[in-house]
Parts: sequence; structure tokens; C-alpha cells
Amino acid sequence: MINTDLLPKKNWPVFSPGWVWLCGAGPGDPGLLTLHALNGLKQADVVVFDALVDREMLEWAPNAELIYAGKRGGKPSAKQRDISLHLIELAKLGKRVLRLKGGDPFVFGRGGEEAQTLVQNNIPIRIIPGISAGIGGLAYAGIPVTHRDVNQSVTFVTGHDQNGITPSSLNWSAISEGSQVIVIYMGMKHIDHIRKSLLDARRDPNEPVAIVTSATTARQNVLETTLENCAKDIKVAQLEPPAIICIGKSVLMRQVLDWQGQSNGENPRNVDPLGRGRPAESA
Ligand code: SAH
Repeated sequence: MINTDLLPKKNWPVFSPGWVWLCGAGPGDPGLLTLHALNGLKQADVVVFDALVDREMLEWAPNAELIYAGKRGGKPSAKQRDISLHLIELAKLGKRVLRLKGGDPFVFGRGGEEAQTLVQNNIPIRIIPGISAGIGGLAYAGIPVTHRDVNQSVTFVTGHDQNGITPSSLNWSAISEGSQVIVIYMGMKHIDHIRKSLLDARRDPNEPVAIVTSATTARQNVLETTLENCAKDIKVAQLEPPAIICIGKSVLMRQVLDWQGQSNGENPRNVDPLGRGRPAESA
């Protein structure tokens, strides 16, 4: 019997023994969890969770053994294999295994690799997407990841590859030229390299940049700066990961859309941050 407290009435999927549900936890705020994830938590025998998962939501898995599989900062992937093997082992014991990963499991989270290993080992899986930090985290900072007057495309970039170094396969000139807005995950360690690469590729030094740390949590902090100054300012402000770095004009929208600051009257309501001389939506 599925306990449906907290869940609206619906014919929710039953979590069968021996299955692994690979599930996104969202960027932090437990309220950003999906209903499918909540349904999974309520039925799980085991929850294997990552470092960035908010512990509060683990309380929604009343019957589950909780296993921490944290791994931070692009360490070598040997441990990744251990995690996948552990999931297989638990599933083969007939457990309902919920693998809970920060954000969306398929966005820079190695969820694709885990899912692949499970499938190769004949473990049945369900994928439950989550809100990715590069979208939801920016929304909590009042930055729309797309805006009709700013960008018709967005590029998500990781600042780390499997070995923890800036991915050598990235073509920064192409990114600089072709990306109206660049959203960088895991970029803090290599921000100076990223900044230099973009400036070398003739990106505007005055381009607005926002660094959103611990987005959607009570510790959320937003630093607004420019491409030229971002590395220096991150250092001065002593910002700590996790952080999403957004490079592009969308950052200016914060001037009116910083909804967390609206109660103290910080936001002028009627300005146009993009300087088009007309308020939004009057076109
Ligand atoms: N699968 C995750 C990303 C995992 S990679 C997702 O879809 O969001 C880990 C990186 O995500 C961090 O280094 C950071 O760049 C970003 N990140 C995750 N949660 C974050 C948060 N609450 N605030 C800011 N950045 C976050």
C-alpha cells in the first residue's frame, strides 16, 4: 500500500523491488522536488544520495536506509564505478533503490553513466528528471535563462572534465561567438582560465556576469560583476561552491526580477534593464 500523505490523488507508479529509480532532487530547496520523486521516496527501501542533496527531503523516505555517496569537485571516476556497482548490488538484493542526485540526474551529474551501467546489468530503471541548478538556481536569483529580448539560445558548460581540469575539448572561440548566454556549472576552480579564454575570443569585458552560490537554499548568495572582473571579485568575496555562473545580458534582468528582494522595496518596478526604452511585454 502506497502511503499517499502529501501526494495529491493519482494513480502513482508502484516502486517494484529490484528496481532503481534515478531521481533528480532539484538544486536545493526541497519544495522543488517533483511529485514523482516524492512518490519514490515514500516507497524506497534504500536512498543513495549525493552531497548536494538537502537532508530535509530524506525525511520523506520514512522506510529507507540512507546511504551517502557524496563526491565533490570532479574527483577521479573510480568511485563513480563503486557507486554504480553498489546500486546494482542493492537492486539484486530485491531492494527498491532510489538514487537521488542534485538538480537533474542527466545534467552534468553522471546520471547517464549510472543509468547505462544499470541497464547493462539488466537492472530495470525509471528516470525522474529534476530542476537543474543552471535553470532553477538562476530563476531563484531573478535571472530568466532565456528572455525574448536577450537570447534565442543558451549554452550549458561544465568547468570540469572527468579529471577535474577545464575540459580541453571545449572550443571557447566557438562558445564565445555562438552563445548569447553561457551558464557554467562547476566553474569556480577554473574561472580565471574560463574568463581569459572568453576574453581572448573577443567576448566583451563589460559583459554582465552573475555568480549564484548555494542557489535556492537559505544560504543563496548572488554576486553581480563583469567578465573582466569576475575572477577577482569571486576571490574578494570568498565565494564557495556550489555555484552557477551566468554570463550574458540576462543577468541585467535581476534589476527588476530579483523577487527575493522585492519585499524590501529594492526593485524598481518600471525600468527596462535592457535599455530598450519600453517596458517588457508592450511590444
Ligand atoms: N545535476 C546537477 C549538476 C551537478 S554538477 C544539476 O542539474 O543541477 C554540480 C554543480 O552544479 C555544482 O558544482 C554547481 O555548479 C551546480 N550546482 C548544483 N546545485 C547548485 C546550487 N544549489 N547552487 C549553485 N550551483 C549549484
